[in-house]
Amino acid sequence: MKKHTSPSTSPVATSASPELDATAPYIGGQSWPDFIEQVKLFHGYAAPGVLLGGIMVELARKRLPEGTLFDALAETYSCLPDAVQMLTACTIGNGWLKVLDNGRYALTLYDKYTGAGVRVAVRSDNLQNYPTLHDWLLNLVDKKDQDENQLREEIRTGGAKICAIEAIQVDKNFLGKVRKGRVVPCPICREPYPLRDGAICLGCQRGTPVELIERHSTSSLEPQLKKVPVDDAVGKALLHDMTQIIPGRSKGPVFKAGQVLNAGDLCQLHLMGRENVFLRDELPDEKEWVHENEVAAAFGKAMCGDGSTADGEAREGKVKISAAVDGLFIADEARLESFNAVPGVMCASRHSYTLVKQGQAIAGTRAIPLYLPRKYYLQATTILEKGALFKVLPLRKAKVGILVTGTEVFRGLVEDKFAAIVTNKVKNFDAEIVSSEIVPDIADEISAGCKRALAAGADLIVTTAGLSVDPDDVTRKGLLAAGLKDDLFGMPVLPGAMTLTGKIANAQILGVPACALFHKITAMDLLLPRLLAGLEIKRNDIAKLGHGGLCLECEKCSFPHCGFGK
Ligand code: ZN
Repeated sequence: MKKHTSPSTSPVATSASPELDATAPYIGGQSWPDFIEQVKLFHGYAAPGVLLGGIMVELARKRLPEGTLFDALAETYSCLPDAVQMLTACTIGNGWLKVLDNGRYALTLYDKYTGAGVRVAVRSDNLQNYPTLHDWLLNLVDKKDQDENQLREEIRTGGAKICAIEAIQVDKNFLGKVRKGRVVPCPICREPYPLRDGAICLGCQRGTPVELIERHSTSSLEPQLKKVPVDDAVGKALLHDMTQIIPGRSKGPVFKAGQVLNAGDLCQLHLMGRENVFLRDELPDEKEWVHENEVAAAFGKAMCGDGSTADGEAREGKVKISAAVDGLFIADEARLESFNAVPGVMCASRHSYTLVKQGQAIAGTRAIPLYLPRKYYLQATTILEKGALFKVLPLRKAKVGILVTGTEVFRGLVEDKFAAIVTNKVKNFDAEIVSSEIVPDIADEISAGCKRALAAGADLIVTTAGLSVDPDDVTRKGLLAAGLKDDLFGMPVLPGAMTLTGKIANAQILGVPACALFHKITAMDLLLPRLLAGLEIKRNDIAKLGHGGLCLECEKCSFPHCGFGK
């Protein structure tokens, strides 16, 4: 069992320290002047942040039950971690102090087994009583103009008063030490690293500044290959595919890697404008270089997730990835970007959430040079190891219940147009309408309508209207009464800002605002495929819709062949 085994000067367990006395606070069992001296020794000078940090450590520690074995969490790298390391046994190196840089001057000490603890944070509430401390905290004064003595004095007398203290519970996942596991040498830098980070070390994945300076600049993107005049190459095997492009007519490999040239080929090579070739007997060192076709084949295979497939063999260093089923295409955009940040490789894809048919292209990937440095190959494959980049999710044939809300339509004063609009849209996805009814703007009626739709077997209930700010708009209330959960209301899409999604029992709910009566394409058109693909709609996904979520309402609508929702 791990145990703090610190010398008595850095007590881990809480001691019954006296209440913090603002006139003469004792920090870690020592007087304020002694504490200042200790800070000078540890930190290099008596930094105000460490002094304030000392008071915060003291405030937190004396609120923990006596004898508690605690860990520490600082929410900034500035000064505060030093106060913790000086005054407790918790250090960054021994793992008992963690820093989660939120940029807040806050410190938590917590029971390392249960997570129960105390958070002390600098607040702005009482700062007006300590003008020098105020100006220092808000960084309003140049360091050279700082009245150091006055500042220290205000920290001594006011430090405890400007802090908020609260009992907190640290998340269970945060407790305990992260084990390193197996350590292996990195194939690129040869330095040992924990294997859990991937096939190469994190430094080589990210490119540390040292590497950028010392290693990048010397590494070339091409091995030194000897070019051979075509007339001397008869009877020898080619190293690479060769493409002939006839403008507007054809583009493809005329010569394949490994093909042995005969006398008749010379004429064609000359016609293609090739005077020199690379030959297979000039193979570069396999430990250092990976051939383009091998690169592309490996990338293609690793990128394909459910519903996608890499087409055949790599050709000319390139692989095409296609949809294996009809459905909704989804790319892991963050990792695609990381992949493309690696030198010498590329992958281009469609936009996420595009509807695709089986066989349609969704992405293409290739190596840029004929031989890719193995270092970049490993960098790129490490990114792909974490899971496929692309998938195509088939859409289910939904059983749709339509619930048109509106007292005016219910009474027949206004003719309903909504049921037809919704029906058209969902029928484009082969959905079956299992129920369709009109209910007045009364929450209980809407709730009852939902339940009837569920009873009819609906797995997707589309409600219309009643979602605006009007007092008579009660659709949401009605849905909540029917058991609406996981609901998201409001999204960054125009038109369709008042759209609602959620679930009632196992049925998906899509609340379509009245704007869908006037606008041909709205948020509904963006969300419907996602719902039919069985995607859980989360706040994050919704937030992403904002970029590209503005419909231009073109006179002639070309959706989905436009920027809306991309
Ligand atoms: Zn490395």
